[in-house]
Amino acid sequence: MNAPHKTEHQPSATAVQKCISPDCAAEFSLRERIYVCRRCGEPLEIDCGLEKVADLESLKGRWASRATSRDARDRSGVWRYREVLPFDDRAPIVTLFEGNTPIYDAPKCAQYAGLTALTLKHQGANPTGSFKDTGMTAAVTQAVISGARAVVCASTGNTAASLAAYAARANLKCVVLLPEGQVSAAKLAQSMDYGATILEVAGNFDDCMRLTQELADVEWIYIANSVNPFRIEGQKTVAYELMMQRDWQVPDHVVVPGGNMGNSSALGKGFAEMKRMGLIDHVPKLSIVQAEGAAPLAQLFSKLGQANSAPEIETVSNPKTLATAIKIGAPISWKKALRAVLQSGGNVISVTEQELADAKAMIGREGIGCEPASAATVAGIKKLTAAGKIGKNEAVVAVLTGNVLKDPDYVAHYHRGTLSLETGAQVDGAKSQLVSGAFRNAPRRVAATKEAIIESVERAH
Ligand SMILES: *Cc1c(COP(=O)(O)O)cnc(C)c1O
Repeated sequence: MNAPHKTEHQPSATAVQKCISPDCAAEFSLRERIYVCRRCGEPLEIDCGLEKVADLESLKGRWASRATSRDARDRSGVWRYREVLPFDDRAPIVTLFEGNTPIYDAPKCAQYAGLTALTLKHQGANPTGSFKDTGMTAAVTQAVISGARAVVCASTGNTAASLAAYAARANLKCVVLLPEGQVSAAKLAQSMDYGATILEVAGNFDDCMRLTQELADVEWIYIANSVNPFRIEGQKTVAYELMMQRDWQVPDHVVVPGGNMGNSSALGKGFAEMKRMGLIDHVPKLSIVQAEGAAPLAQLFSKLGQANSAPEIETVSNPKTLATAIKIGAPISWKKALRAVLQSGGNVISVTEQELADAKAMIGREGIGCEPASAATVAGIKKLTAAGKIGKNEAVVAVLTGNVLKDPDYVAHYHRGTLSLETGAQVDGAKSQLVSGAFRNAPRRVAATKEAIIESVERAH
């Protein structure tokens, strides 16, 4: 199909849902509420029919000027990029003004990781405190368009909190499946407050995900996990926003944590599209960092090249990590994510609980903070730099996925020196494994006198 005339908002007339398998490549209309290819069962993605843009400067200028507009669609850091989204002008958008997240210079983390400079893009600054909002605004909008009566997701906490919020805005019934006893109190509290029906499943996240997929054939239920290709469309705009913030200077590396792999898939799609449109002339190397106890893709990646046939992931049946957002043994979007990593020349690695915890504390020392899963990035960058896979002077962006307030128990245990696989939100009987707080900062008791306070101020670091 030829590129349609570029109007103020490119119509979604040419966009289709497409099977990611090159051998199949079946296409389905956007109206069809499906999550895998009906012909071969492989994942779907949306092909927006984006092609080389003739007037790049006017498109970039339009996106930049929307940042100061009062129009709801412009104020959202996702809908601002609506030319690349599979929705038309009449879409009943459900927005909490997601996106618009800051990038920060992080000199202490840079030094810690062996780099000259490091940039953090903080997706924890989204309305419900994680990057999930950038996808949920698109998925819930599509749920409304498709006439769904209920939206459902499996979650380690953040997807549920985000879906609950957007469903509340849209007046949609929302049911979330959470692994019992394994969700941080803050995330659970969000879902309760936003009015979702919360089902605590006697199992882990992968069980919740399996159950959710079994609901895919119920016509009036809409599934909002990242198998949902509309969610990926929303999340890909994070790549566009990052490039806007960097004045279209492509970084050498973008590093993200990997759980279910929707985030990495989405960023990879965003960069690939920008290259196709001519907005950038090459893509950054995209690397994924997993926690050692939940690292099926890192394991597969380390063995690539040995097998001659198509690689298959070996799922981890009992994933273990205190970074609950990436405590996933059977990542649903691993194929899309692996494709993005390989096409960009990036890596997939894992880090230990200790490495992750100390990197998290360093991000905190920047005055920024993040939830544990996000810190896999800085821990991974340190390892990749030490291994020579990232050059000291290269431009590196770490995507922080969630807010520091998402898991206060973890933070307090780290700084008090009591962090172990049992003190986190876990009930799976894991053997105690202490993580030492290398950058501990515990509160101190002090007498209620002026002298004692002054003495403490003098001794403060
Ligand atoms: C969801 C989530 C992740 C994992 O993202 P995937 O898309 O599942 O790989 C990482 N960190 C945080 C804070 C999250 O909420």
